[in-house]
Amino acid sequence: MPTLTGQNTRTVTGYIVTLLDYPRWIIEREVDFTNCHLSGGFDVDDNQCAACLFGEACCWLNMNRIAPSPNMPLDKLLQALNAAVDYLRSPSDGEPPHPDYCECDTCNWLREAMGFLRTHRHSA
Ligand SMILES: [Zn+2]
Repeated sequence: MPTLTGQNTRTVTGYIVTLLDYPRWIIEREVDFTNCHLSGGFDVDDNQCAACLFGEACCWLNMNRIAPSPNMPLDKLLQALNAAVDYLRSPSDGEPPHPDYCECDTCNWLREAMGFLRTHRHSA
């Protein structure tokens, strides 16, 4: 997992942009576009997208495929971060939830991201 010590991290928005690197990497790895009739181009109005197993992740990926600019409004960045947290918190099918003390990359990222969201809940 990349450490959060890049030059971007001096500002709040730069910090969120850096935080979003990890879910982008995970979601890109998890979502399987082999059978996608749109080749991964999420369409809100498409019935198949609405019913798709990867719909939520694919939708996120399409909004966040490119690293956001630190000039993006803070509320947009927080929204993307919240959606990524929700996605990574919901366990995949058939997988037991991770224990509280779990030290895997995803759990470490979630702790960092959720801690950040808690401290910034009222500033957005
Ligand atoms: Zn874990």
